[in-house]
Amino acid sequence: MATVFGTYPAIQIDGATFKEKDSIKWYESRTLGVLKQINGVATGEIVLKYLQSIKAGRKVTIKPYNWAYISKTFPKDKVANLWNATAQPKDHTKANDQGQSVILEALKGEPAGGTDVEVYFTKWVIDNPKYRKSAGIAKGSAGSLADEILLHELVHGVGQMLGRDDRTAMADDMHEVSEFRSILVTNIYATDASNPVKNRPVRKDHAGTATLTAAAGENINETFLKLPGYRSHTQTFIRRFPGLAWDLLDVNATFNPVRALIKGA
Ligand SMILES: [Zn+2]
Repeated sequence: MATVFGTYPAIQIDGATFKEKDSIKWYESRTLGVLKQINGVATGEIVLKYLQSIKAGRKVTIKPYNWAYISKTFPKDKVANLWNATAQPKDHTKANDQGQSVILEALKGEPAGGTDVEVYFTKWVIDNPKYRKSAGIAKGSAGSLADEILLHELVHGVGQMLGRDDRTAMADDMHEVSEFRSILVTNIYATDASNPVKNRPVRKDHAGTATLTAAAGENINETFLKLPGYRSHTQTFIRRFPGLAWDLLDVNATFNPVRALIKGA
Protein backbone atom coordinates (compact mmCIF):
# COMPACT_ATOMS: atom_id res chain seq x y z
CA MET A 1 0.00 0.00 0.00
CA ALA A 2 1.47 3.26 -1.09
CA THR A 3 1.50 6.22 1.27
CA VAL A 4 -0.63 9.21 0.24
CA PHE A 5 0.45 12.71 1.13
CA GLY A 6 -2.39 14.29 3.14
CA THR A 7 -4.53 16.60 1.05
CA TYR A 8 -2.60 15.69 -2.11
CA PRO A 9 -3.99 12.33 -3.25
CA ALA A 10 -2.34 12.89 -6.66
CA ILE A 11 1.02 12.37 -4.90
CA GLN A 12 1.76 8.82 -3.81
CA ILE A 13 4.87 7.33 -2.24
CA ASP A 14 5.54 3.69 -3.02
CA GLY A 15 8.56 1.98 -1.45
CA ALA A 16 7.42 -1.54 -2.40
CA THR A 17 10.59 -2.32 -4.38
CA PHE A 18 12.41 -2.61 -1.04
CA LYS A 19 10.30 -5.72 -0.24
CA GLU A 20 11.07 -5.71 3.51
CA LYS A 21 8.31 -4.10 5.53
CA ASP A 22 10.63 -1.98 7.67
CA SER A 23 12.52 -0.67 4.65
CA ILE A 24 9.30 0.24 2.87
CA LYS A 25 8.09 2.06 5.96
CA TRP A 26 11.47 3.81 6.34
CA TYR A 27 11.45 4.91 2.71
CA GLU A 28 7.86 6.14 2.68
CA SER A 29 8.09 8.06 5.97
CA ARG A 30 11.39 9.73 5.03
CA THR A 31 9.98 10.77 1.66
CA LEU A 32 6.80 12.05 3.29
CA GLY A 33 9.02 14.18 5.55
CA VAL A 34 10.62 15.81 2.50
CA LEU A 35 7.20 16.51 0.96
CA LYS A 36 6.07 18.13 4.22
CA GLN A 37 9.19 20.29 4.17
CA ILE A 38 8.39 21.39 0.59
CA ASN A 39 4.77 22.09 1.53
CA GLY A 40 5.95 24.28 4.43
CA VAL A 41 7.42 26.86 2.03
CA ALA A 42 5.07 29.16 0.04
CA THR A 43 6.63 28.23 -3.33
CA GLY A 44 6.54 24.52 -2.53
CA GLU A 45 2.89 24.64 -1.49
CA ILE A 46 2.02 26.47 -4.73
CA VAL A 47 3.69 23.74 -6.82
CA LEU A 48 2.03 20.89 -4.90
CA LYS A 49 -1.41 22.53 -5.11
CA TYR A 50 -0.94 23.14 -8.82
CA LEU A 51 0.06 19.51 -9.32
CA GLN A 52 -2.99 18.38 -7.36
CA SER A 53 -5.25 20.61 -9.48
CA ILE A 54 -4.33 18.77 -12.70
CA LYS A 55 -7.46 16.97 -13.81
CA ALA A 56 -8.03 13.66 -15.62
CA GLY A 57 -6.94 11.70 -12.56
CA ARG A 58 -3.26 12.20 -13.23
CA LYS A 59 -0.93 11.16 -10.46
CA VAL A 60 2.74 11.09 -9.60
CA THR A 61 4.21 8.13 -7.72
CA ILE A 62 7.49 8.63 -5.90
CA LYS A 63 9.60 5.46 -5.91
CA PRO A 64 13.07 4.56 -4.61
CA TYR A 65 16.09 5.68 -6.57
CA ASN A 66 18.21 2.62 -5.82
CA TRP A 67 20.88 0.41 -7.38
CA ALA A 68 18.35 -1.76 -9.22
CA TYR A 69 16.84 1.32 -10.81
CA ILE A 70 20.25 2.81 -11.65
CA SER A 71 21.39 -0.47 -13.30
CA LYS A 72 18.24 -0.63 -15.39
CA THR A 73 18.15 3.06 -16.35
CA PHE A 74 21.84 3.88 -16.78
CA PRO A 75 23.44 0.51 -17.70
CA LYS A 76 26.54 2.16 -19.23
CA ASP A 77 26.87 4.92 -16.70
CA LYS A 78 25.99 3.41 -13.33
CA VAL A 79 28.67 5.02 -11.16
CA ALA A 80 28.18 8.49 -12.64
CA ASN A 81 24.51 8.24 -11.68
CA LEU A 82 24.88 7.05 -8.09
CA TRP A 83 23.80 10.50 -6.92
CA ASN A 84 20.73 11.49 -8.90
CA ALA A 85 16.94 11.53 -9.13
CA THR A 86 14.64 11.39 -12.15
CA ALA A 87 11.08 12.02 -13.33
CA GLN A 88 9.73 9.58 -15.91
CA PRO A 89 6.44 9.84 -17.78
CA LYS A 90 4.57 6.54 -17.91
CA ASP A 91 3.71 7.23 -21.54
CA HIS A 92 6.53 9.10 -23.26
CA THR A 93 4.37 9.83 -26.31
CA LYS A 94 1.98 11.96 -24.23
CA ALA A 95 4.39 13.95 -22.06
CA ASN A 96 5.76 16.48 -24.53
CA ASP A 97 4.24 19.81 -25.43
CA GLN A 98 2.34 19.70 -28.72
CA GLY A 99 1.58 23.41 -28.68
CA GLN A 100 -1.98 22.70 -27.63
CA SER A 101 -4.17 25.58 -26.48
CA VAL A 102 -3.83 26.10 -22.75
CA ILE A 103 -6.99 28.25 -22.75
CA LEU A 104 -9.02 25.53 -24.47
CA GLU A 105 -7.79 23.00 -21.93
CA ALA A 106 -8.78 25.32 -19.09
CA LEU A 107 -12.27 25.66 -20.61
CA LYS A 108 -12.63 21.92 -21.09
CA GLY A 109 -11.37 21.36 -17.56
CA GLU A 110 -8.68 18.82 -18.35
CA PRO A 111 -5.47 18.47 -20.31
CA ALA A 112 -5.61 17.02 -23.83
CA GLY A 113 -2.30 15.22 -23.39
CA GLY A 114 -0.23 14.28 -20.40
CA THR A 115 0.39 11.09 -18.50
CA ASP A 116 0.99 9.67 -15.04
CA VAL A 117 4.52 10.12 -13.79
CA GLU A 118 7.03 8.20 -11.71
CA VAL A 119 9.61 10.16 -9.77
CA TYR A 120 12.64 8.19 -8.61
CA PHE A 121 14.08 9.78 -5.49
CA THR A 122 15.69 8.58 -2.26
CA LYS A 123 16.52 11.10 0.46
CA TRP A 124 19.24 8.78 1.83
CA VAL A 125 21.02 8.85 -1.54
CA ILE A 126 20.89 12.65 -1.82
CA ASP A 127 22.13 13.12 1.76
CA ASN A 128 24.84 10.45 1.52
CA PRO A 129 28.29 12.12 1.89
CA LYS A 130 30.07 9.39 -0.13
CA TYR A 131 27.66 9.60 -3.05
CA ARG A 132 27.79 13.40 -2.97
CA LYS A 133 31.57 13.29 -3.03
CA SER A 134 31.67 10.83 -5.93
CA ALA A 135 29.37 13.16 -7.90
CA GLY A 136 31.45 16.22 -6.98
CA ILE A 137 28.63 17.85 -5.04
CA ALA A 138 30.08 20.10 -2.34
CA LYS A 139 28.25 20.64 0.92
CA GLY A 140 25.82 23.55 0.60
CA SER A 141 26.13 23.74 -3.18
CA ALA A 142 23.19 25.21 -5.07
CA GLY A 143 20.02 23.16 -5.50
CA SER A 144 21.53 20.05 -3.94
CA LEU A 145 19.45 19.60 -0.80
CA ALA A 146 16.94 16.75 -0.70
CA ASP A 147 13.87 19.02 -0.75
CA GLU A 148 15.29 20.99 -3.69
CA ILE A 149 16.04 17.81 -5.64
CA LEU A 150 12.54 16.40 -5.07
CA LEU A 151 10.87 19.70 -5.95
CA HIS A 152 12.99 19.91 -9.12
CA GLU A 153 11.73 16.47 -10.20
CA LEU A 154 8.12 17.31 -9.30
CA VAL A 155 8.28 20.38 -11.58
CA HIS A 156 9.37 18.07 -14.43
CA GLY A 157 6.47 15.86 -13.34
CA VAL A 158 3.95 18.69 -13.60
CA GLY A 159 4.98 19.30 -17.23
CA GLN A 160 4.71 15.61 -18.06
CA MET A 161 1.33 15.23 -16.32
CA LEU A 162 -0.04 18.13 -18.37
CA GLY A 163 1.59 17.10 -21.65
CA ARG A 164 3.59 20.33 -21.61
CA ASP A 165 7.08 19.04 -20.98
CA ASP A 166 9.62 20.64 -23.32
CA ARG A 167 12.83 18.75 -24.04
CA THR A 168 14.06 21.30 -26.59
CA ALA A 169 17.83 21.76 -26.30
CA MET A 170 19.11 25.06 -24.92
CA ALA A 171 22.25 26.75 -26.17
CA ASP A 172 23.98 26.71 -22.79
CA ASP A 173 24.46 24.47 -19.76
CA MET A 174 20.76 24.55 -18.89
CA HIS A 175 20.71 21.70 -21.45
CA GLU A 176 16.93 21.62 -22.01
CA VAL A 177 13.93 23.93 -21.59
CA SER A 178 12.50 21.43 -19.09
CA GLU A 179 15.62 21.84 -16.90
CA PHE A 180 15.42 25.63 -17.19
CA ARG A 181 11.90 25.49 -15.73
CA SER A 182 12.74 23.08 -12.91
CA ILE A 183 15.76 25.19 -11.94
CA LEU A 184 13.76 28.43 -12.23
CA VAL A 185 11.04 27.25 -9.84
CA THR A 186 13.46 25.59 -7.41
CA ASN A 187 15.53 28.79 -7.21
CA ILE A 188 12.40 30.75 -6.26
CA TYR A 189 11.80 28.11 -3.55
CA ALA A 190 15.44 28.35 -2.38
CA THR A 191 15.26 32.11 -1.85
CA ASP A 192 11.63 32.23 -0.64
CA ALA A 193 11.39 34.32 2.55
CA SER A 194 9.09 31.68 4.05
CA ASN A 195 11.79 29.02 3.70
CA PRO A 196 13.12 28.16 7.18
CA VAL A 197 16.48 27.08 5.71
CA LYS A 198 17.99 30.49 4.94
CA ASN A 199 20.83 31.67 2.68
CA ARG A 200 20.42 29.01 0.04
CA PRO A 201 22.37 29.75 -3.13
CA VAL A 202 20.74 30.18 -6.55
CA ARG A 203 21.60 27.33 -8.93
CA LYS A 204 23.27 28.55 -12.11
CA ASP A 205 22.48 25.79 -14.59
CA HIS A 206 21.96 22.08 -15.14
CA ALA A 207 25.63 21.18 -15.61
CA GLY A 208 26.16 21.00 -11.87
CA THR A 209 25.45 22.86 -8.66
CA ALA A 210 27.35 26.11 -9.30
CA THR A 211 25.92 29.35 -7.91
CA LEU A 212 24.52 32.22 -9.96
CA THR A 213 25.36 35.62 -8.49
CA ALA A 214 24.13 39.07 -9.46
CA ALA A 215 26.38 41.16 -11.69
CA ALA A 216 27.75 44.37 -10.20
CA GLY A 217 25.04 47.00 -9.80
CA GLU A 218 22.21 44.56 -10.63
CA ASN A 219 19.88 42.37 -8.65
CA ILE A 220 19.83 38.64 -9.32
CA ASN A 221 16.67 38.83 -11.46
CA GLU A 222 18.15 41.46 -13.76
CA THR A 223 21.28 39.35 -14.20
CA PHE A 224 19.24 36.18 -14.85
CA LEU A 225 16.89 37.82 -17.39
CA LYS A 226 19.84 39.31 -19.29
CA LEU A 227 21.37 35.90 -19.98
CA PRO A 228 20.88 34.94 -23.66
CA GLY A 229 17.39 33.54 -24.18
CA TYR A 230 16.41 33.56 -20.49
CA ARG A 231 13.84 36.34 -20.80
CA SER A 232 11.99 34.55 -23.59
CA HIS A 233 12.24 31.17 -21.83
CA THR A 234 10.75 32.75 -18.68
CA GLN A 235 7.96 34.26 -20.82
CA THR A 236 7.27 30.88 -22.40
CA PHE A 237 7.14 29.26 -18.97
CA ILE A 238 4.51 31.84 -17.96
CA ARG A 239 2.51 31.22 -21.16
CA ARG A 240 2.55 27.40 -20.89
CA PHE A 241 1.94 27.29 -17.10
CA PRO A 242 -0.18 30.41 -16.49
CA GLY A 243 -1.88 29.05 -13.35
CA LEU A 244 1.45 28.23 -11.73
CA ALA A 245 3.12 31.47 -12.83
CA TRP A 246 0.18 33.54 -11.56
CA ASP A 247 0.63 32.15 -8.05
CA LEU A 248 4.43 32.46 -8.15
CA LEU A 249 4.04 36.19 -8.92
CA ASP A 250 3.30 36.98 -5.31
CA VAL A 251 6.05 34.87 -3.76
CA ASN A 252 8.40 37.00 -1.72
CA ALA A 253 11.72 35.56 -2.90
CA THR A 254 15.01 37.24 -3.74
CA PHE A 255 15.14 35.26 -6.97
CA ASN A 256 11.81 35.64 -8.74
CA PRO A 257 12.21 36.43 -12.45
CA VAL A 258 8.49 35.69 -12.98
CA ARG A 259 7.62 38.59 -10.69
CA ALA A 260 10.44 40.76 -12.08
CA LEU A 261 9.25 40.18 -15.64
CA ILE A 262 5.56 40.87 -15.03
CA LYS A 263 5.66 43.42 -12.23
CA GLY A 264 9.02 44.92 -13.14
CA ALA A 265 10.37 44.55 -9.61
ZN1 LIG B 1 16.01 17.93 -14.09
